[in-house]
Amino acid sequence: MASVLWFQGGACSGNTMSFLNAEEPNVVDLIVDFGLDLLWHPSLGMELGSQAQTLFNDCATGKRPLDIFVFEGTVIEGPDGTGRFDMFADRPMKDWVTELAAQAQIVVAIGDCASWGGIPAMEPNPSGSTGLQFHKRERGGFLGPDFRSQMGLPVINIPGCPAHPDWITQVIVALATGRAGDIALDELHRPETFFKTFTQTGCTRVQFFEYKQTTTSFGEGTRTGCLFYEFGCRGPMTHSPCNRILWNRQSSKTRAGQPCMGCTEPEYPFFDLAPGTVFKTQKVSGMIPKEVPEGSDHLTYMAHAAAARIAAPQWSKEDMFVV
Ligand code: SF4
Ligand code: SF4
Repeated sequence: MASVLWFQGGACSGNTMSFLNAEEPNVVDLIVDFGLDLLWHPSLGMELGSQAQTLFNDCATGKRPLDIFVFEGTVIEGPDGTGRFDMFADRPMKDWVTELAAQAQIVVAIGDCASWGGIPAMEPNPSGSTGLQFHKRERGGFLGPDFRSQMGLPVINIPGCPAHPDWITQVIVALATGRAGDIALDELHRPETFFKTFTQTGCTRVQFFEYKQTTTSFGEGTRTGCLFYEFGCRGPMTHSPCNRILWNRQSSKTRAGQPCMGCTEPEYPFFDLAPGTVFKTQKVSGMIPKEVPEGSDHLTYMAHAAAARIAAPQWSKEDMFVV
């Protein structure tokens, strides 16, 4: 049995909601079939008051072995480095994090906030929020760049706002069944199995992207073009499997006509854009996208785009109704 302790820092509980919505396996399956010993979770834990405090203390001091420490939300360091903006069980949450992370065999950050600070860590960052081992794209975060868990692993980041239920449960199952060593991580400590490909992989609009044909409206509507050219879709610059592992087993943002906002990347949310320009492709000289798909440069992209537009077949320019 693998013991799991799940704490929340500066969080909206979105990743807990996602976790509770998992279906294959669901939370009960994790406990019954996969041997998860869920010691405590903010929404599921039965212990209260001094009972809970004793449990946390036992884990923090090593009296009770802790296999997996899951953290959701930012580590709050304010005001002035005291962490007193986020008190939990009579102590700053950041002190619990320091001690529990030091005892745990494996530490997992769930969601953007725990991975790299997310929305709360945006400037001016009044709460002093940061991620467990990254602050935005910069290594370090709360635990520092050299942190390693008892098993010798860095913090495993499962970003997203929120993370998809399957990304959470499948990583937890792999860890709980002793397969931590099989999880290859990218340079941002994200499991490659989920985050090596782009959101664009599997998008049903990708043929319109190829011929540089834009949609003219949000939603599924009648125009099936791509959301990159006018609506700011970040699918070609974002690492996520949202069009491979569908949400609710049915769809994704881009399939439903909503641009990808890049929520699995450390820079999310991209609100440094000018007011009123969210969901609007930022352009240079009014026509060239400011950011081109990852792996391309502006010149190559423009040459390719011009050729693709000339070669665009009639079907790519027609309104079509898709269900
Ligand atoms: S809608 Fe977004 S993800 Fe889909 S093809 Fe266009 S740019 Fe790529
Ligand atoms: S489509 Fe983009 S914004 Fe939406 S969940 Fe996936 S990565 Fe996040």
